[in-house]
Amino acid sequence: MTIAEDIEDALLRRITPQELFDAGYNPGSIGYAVSRLSSRGIIKRPEGFVGWVQRAQRKWIFTRDNYTCQNCGAHGNNVELQLHHKDHNKNNNRSSNRATWCSGCNFKEGQEWAAKLRMGKVKTGVVKKGAIRLPAKKTAPRDYSRLVQGVTSFMGDLVETIKADKAREQ
Ligand SMILES: [Zn+2]
Repeated sequence: MTIAEDIEDALLRRITPQELFDAGYNPGSIGYAVSRLSSRGIIKRPEGFVGWVQRAQRKWIFTRDNYTCQNCGAHGNNVELQLHHKDHNKNNNRSSNRATWCSGCNFKEGQEWAAKLRMGKVKTGVVKKGAIRLPAKKTAPRDYSRLVQGVTSFMGDLVETIKADKAREQ
């Protein structure tokens, strides 16, 4: 078995996304790392993985925000919580762009934003068939070093664990 196959085996059978999550990894980052690895053919993305990432990320953000609306402070059993997009770009689902908002605040702010767009008060977006789309931002190339470092360290530990297991079996 090659190391790549070892990692694939570990991710598919031995180390579950939940275990990564329990180890403190942000599910969005895990999803991103796994997607990157699978797009390069290094691992196969486990079945149902995207759904898991979405559910886990939702829970992770609610927990980070203490299950409290970050706009009005509402919390409790009678408050319906949603995930707000800070930059109004619904395709930007990174945890740093998401915040826990109550459904009332989220709806009101969404309506206000759409109205501002229609009146031309905000210049950064256009309304298309009910969806808010922002033009792609021109930003400096993203620094992946922290993510790569985390995944590399995790994969390194994993390979060592697998090697130790094999040595014991022989
Ligand atoms: Zn609120």
